[in-house]
Amino acid sequence: MMEQTFEQSIDTMMKSNPSQYMLTLKYHPRIIRKALERIYRRKIIDPENITNVTILQEFEIMKKEESFSDDDLKMKNPNNVLNEGMPKGMDELRQKIMAMRRKMQCECGDQVAYANRGCHHLMCSTCAASPDCNRCGSNITEVDPVEFVRSSNS
Ligand SMILES: [Zn+2]
Ligand SMILES: [Zn+2]
Repeated sequence: MMEQTFEQSIDTMMKSNPSQYMLTLKYHPRIIRKALERIYRRKIIDPENITNVTILQEFEIMKKEESFSDDDLKMKNPNNVLNEGMPKGMDELRQKIMAMRRKMQCECGDQVAYANRGCHHLMCSTCAASPDCNRCGSNITEVDPVEFVRSSNS
């Protein structure tokens, strides 16, 4: 068996069933990755033997250390990001801004960096490394980097 680098080991663990299950529970991919790195570094368990319980226990430790709530570990709904602090009567503008923001954001709330060739959906670099598109569930086989054109370029 080939020796894997640290990054490769974490990538492999990200693709494991327990990690994918954490995504369906709406845990943020960055948080899952952080938990995997911590588990891997402390050599609690062989990467291939990792379970849902191993990851959830690590989340509990992280929550205690950082005084996080469960919500802090989960994906923020991108649609709600702008709902605070906006005066009433600006609903239409708010809708437009939210629609634009959604197009520039991955389903997990991070900035878009790649497009999946299969379904053409946009996603961040963390989600592009997972096996399935988090918007439609189709396989991610090849991705292309995307770039947004700046409105002013002087
Ligand atoms: Zn993402
Ligand atoms: Zn898709």
